[in-house]
Amino acid sequence: MTAVSDAIASGAVGERVWFYANYHCNLTCSYCLTGSGPAVARRLLDPALMVELAFQARELGFRSLGVTGGEPFMVSHMPDTLATLANILPLVVLSNGTLFSGPRLERMEHLRGLPISIQISLDSPDPDENDSMRGPENFAKVVKAIPKLVDKGIKVRIATTQEEIGEEALERLCKLHRELGVPDEDHVVRPVISRGRALTAGMGLSAGVENIPCELTISADGAFWSPFGPTVTNGDLDLDLLISRTVNPLSIAANAAVGLATGTSAGADATLGIR
Ligand code: SF4
Repeated sequence: MTAVSDAIASGAVGERVWFYANYHCNLTCSYCLTGSGPAVARRLLDPALMVELAFQARELGFRSLGVTGGEPFMVSHMPDTLATLANILPLVVLSNGTLFSGPRLERMEHLRGLPISIQISLDSPDPDENDSMRGPENFAKVVKAIPKLVDKGIKVRIATTQEEIGEEALERLCKLHRELGVPDEDHVVRPVISRGRALTAGMGLSAGVENIPCELTISADGAFWSPFGPTVTNGDLDLDLLISRTVNPLSIAANAAVGLATGTSAGADATLGIR
């Protein structure tokens, strides 16, 4: 056992390593943590680096991977990279679900049968309410895409992000996701976190290192405490949850995370808490 695998076993550090593949997106959601949109800086993470770090993550004792953005499927190599990553460790990829048509949908065949889930955002059973946060026709595109992915043998999860959702609306949403082929255990409801665009819009709950669990997160700008770390507010990357500028070898960032999570030495380049 290593310090990292011990910390994962004890729950001090999450078992998943996250990759921020990119920051651009075809949408501009009102609560977007990363201030994403079509014209933002892309901050791409090199796919070969993701693969190299995934092997290192497995070696260190991490048990799963996550890929997020921006919208990861804006990046053309994504289905192939995801297939490679999922052959290293089980994987979840977060997506807005609006790009799965034509050749992009066909390339999702590469993921058939692999240990991969696509977590798609759907915030309300009411198209107007959903689209007011996520953009015109978002609801229609998402409900069309999900059964197509399910038909390809790809596991789909649904994530609902809301400041508040009533019981009746939640019931209708659950009925809808079941009809789309997504069971209850694959539906998550989560609060808006007040970072990025949500912060500037006065939305959501504030969250800091004391109430965000440690899940090592790698971006083009360094390693962060959590996927809620490398957010972008008013065009500037937030650095309060940065733990290391060094991401390769992964052990440097992983040991810094362990130090912070367990109260032992955090390592010389840890900057958590310093903006
Ligand atoms: S919340 Fe997701 S889908 Fe919406 S703009 Fe941000 S990255 Fe894109």
